[in-house]
Amino acid sequence: MTRPLLDVHDLRVTFSLGSGGLLPWSKPRLLHAVNGVDFTLQPGETLGIVGESGSGKSTLARALIGLVDAQGSAEWVDGKDLIGLSPGQMMAYRNDIQMVFQDPLASLNPRMTVGQIIAEPLVTHHPGLSRAEVKTRVKAMMEKVGLLSNQINRYPHEFSGGQCQRIGIARALIVEPKLIICDEPVSALDVSIQAQVINLLIRLQQELGLSLIFIAHDLSVVKHISDRVLVMYLGKVMEIAPSADLYADPQHPYTQALLSAVPVPDPDFDPATSVVPLHGELPSPSNPPSGCVFRTRCPRAQARCASEVPVLQGQAHQTACHFPGPFTEAEIAKARSTEAA
Ligand code: ADP
Ligand code: MG
Repeated sequence: MTRPLLDVHDLRVTFSLGSGGLLPWSKPRLLHAVNGVDFTLQPGETLGIVGESGSGKSTLARALIGLVDAQGSAEWVDGKDLIGLSPGQMMAYRNDIQMVFQDPLASLNPRMTVGQIIAEPLVTHHPGLSRAEVKTRVKAMMEKVGLLSNQINRYPHEFSGGQCQRIGIARALIVEPKLIICDEPVSALDVSIQAQVINLLIRLQQELGLSLIFIAHDLSVVKHISDRVLVMYLGKVMEIAPSADLYADPQHPYTQALLSAVPVPDPDFDPATSVVPLHGELPSPSNPPSGCVFRTRCPRAQARCASEVPVLQGQAHQTACHFPGPFTEAEIAKARSTEAA
């Protein structure tokens, strides 16, 4: 196996929510948004990261590019740890690691033309380029992402949501990064447009040999783009596996619950025997359950789950669960009757 592009170990991000009380000696309340995450990313690989809103996906992404303070390590392919770099040191890596954000219009400066928006990172990271060279590269990149290069002087509000996301992708790609982190890049788009943007990313990823981290809250969105998928819950990795394995043979009850919520175009599909309900809301990461953080919503939870934190186990397919494996029909029926009650 080649050396990973990125090797993340025990990554943690803790936010302080201020004092827990009015007295000066009250301890500050801590929120563990990312709570010990491990994964590797190979060159040219696409890793999907999924989990409900509040699982810590965006915070994880922000930690990798130095936008929030983190503990643990994230070793880049050159051996450097990205965690704890000063903003100045991080600049050297920001050319190689680009981000695409969720809300395409809000993430583009409304007072800049599309040409200026796409050129900005290029001018920042390669100040020696001539204006003519920058313009040539911007126009070529616009065509590459399916925009018309004669629209270079237009403003973001003149474009649709899908086109704005193409602008965001062009801006990320213009500096020829090694990794693009896409944080829910299609969540704000119509379903019909989502597939177009995902297909564009797949095509560009193959053409340019990039690595992608593709964040979504829904397993169906990452299915076709991901080589591997990481399932996150309350700041922790529940399961990580090659896509084909994860979808065909999910081991963690949380993954199974997420997967069973994905609509299946199968006339024989019977929700009564296949859909695992997910009870209740995500607990607060400032007061997570003891032991396995998923146990309060897990139909299979037992005493051990409250006392012992499960660690990720396995080789290519890893699961953090004391009682992994597919649900039986009896378990599903029981979980559904509890929900109905
Ligand atoms: P996701 O992207 O999976 O929806 P986030 O990473 O945005 O999750 O958030 C994870 C948790 O961290 C949430 O409980 C959120 O409220 C909290 N959080 C995120 N950013 C901050 C911050 N700057 N200060 C305090 N809490 C935060
Ligand atoms: Mg998010």
